[in-house]
Amino acid sequence: MKAWAVIRNEQPLECIELPDPVPTGTEVVLDVTRCGVCHSDLHFWHGAYDMGGGKVMRLTDRGVELPRAPGHEIVGRVVAVGPEAEGVAIGDDRIVYPWLGCGECDRCRVEQDNLCLKQASLGVIRHGGFAGRVKVPHPRYLVEYGDLDPSLAATYACSGLTVYSSIQKILPLAPDRPVVLIGAGGLGLAAIAMLRALGHRHIVSVDTSPQKRQAALAAGATAAVDGSGEGVAARIMEAAGGAVAAAIDFVNASATARTGFDVLDKGGKLVLVGIAGGEITLSLAGMIFKGQSVLGNIVGSVPELREVVRLAREGRLDPMPIREFPKDDANAALQALQRGDVTGRAVLVA
Ligand SMILES: [Zn+2]
Ligand SMILES: [Zn+2]
Repeated sequence: MKAWAVIRNEQPLECIELPDPVPTGTEVVLDVTRCGVCHSDLHFWHGAYDMGGGKVMRLTDRGVELPRAPGHEIVGRVVAVGPEAEGVAIGDDRIVYPWLGCGECDRCRVEQDNLCLKQASLGVIRHGGFAGRVKVPHPRYLVEYGDLDPSLAATYACSGLTVYSSIQKILPLAPDRPVVLIGAGGLGLAAIAMLRALGHRHIVSVDTSPQKRQAALAAGATAAVDGSGEGVAARIMEAAGGAVAAAIDFVNASATARTGFDVLDKGGKLVLVGIAGGEITLSLAGMIFKGQSVLGNIVGSVPELREVVRLAREGRLDPMPIREFPKDDANAALQALQRGDVTGRAVLVA
């Protein structure tokens, strides 16, 4: 099969030839028909994460070998099944859950593969959707999407799933209480749609880009606050009518996490989602007196993906803007994302 792969970090992807995956046991192989391009693909391409305090984590230290085809927002058509794979047939179109675990530990057994200690995620540890085909260990990693647009369906595997899981962490929350969303890129916009689907109507979106703030308002945010310059926290609280019970940081850099924490009310929760990286200092006694929480969110579980797709199939999730690129323009899609030129999601079409 052909695969657009990272050969060397920060160098253009190259189209290489890889052996076609062959399924055994319960495995299933799919032809990739759509693959969303996510900010974490950009991090993968750079090959390193800012862990704060001057520490850098290189992907090669996490067992990632190059060349590797990135891409984890995958929709595909089943082309081969192992002899023990049940409930799926050749020709079926499915969303692929890419955050594969070991399949054997306590967490995997309850389908929380995203919390497995031996992850084998597609597009990171294994070749992902920038390759022609992907292989999953079991049909339970495949989700039927019915009449949904396949490009949109692909985005549910990361952006839809991640926002769903991060919103679960701020619940229960009365629908009229304000929620602050920092970042109005693919995830920020998906979060607006998800909050609305769950009945929330008071959403304050924060972004430095006027275009993205406009997109947030179009997606249904109550207010869009400029995240640049001084006084961001004060502007957010003015738009929200005071300190807030919940903030989700889809950027998660030192400055944005600081802002997210500073707008929290007593009992407030800040959920960290992005991987821009950095660090913040917290008053430990202050956390107690104010009863606040800071939580990290790592994508989501298989049941949560099924729940996202159910909401979408019931017509409750407004679609986010999609910009399709031919798969052979994978480099152009990555560069567009790097420049901040993509409103909503870039999706490769095979
Ligand atoms: Zn992603
Ligand atoms: Zn596991």
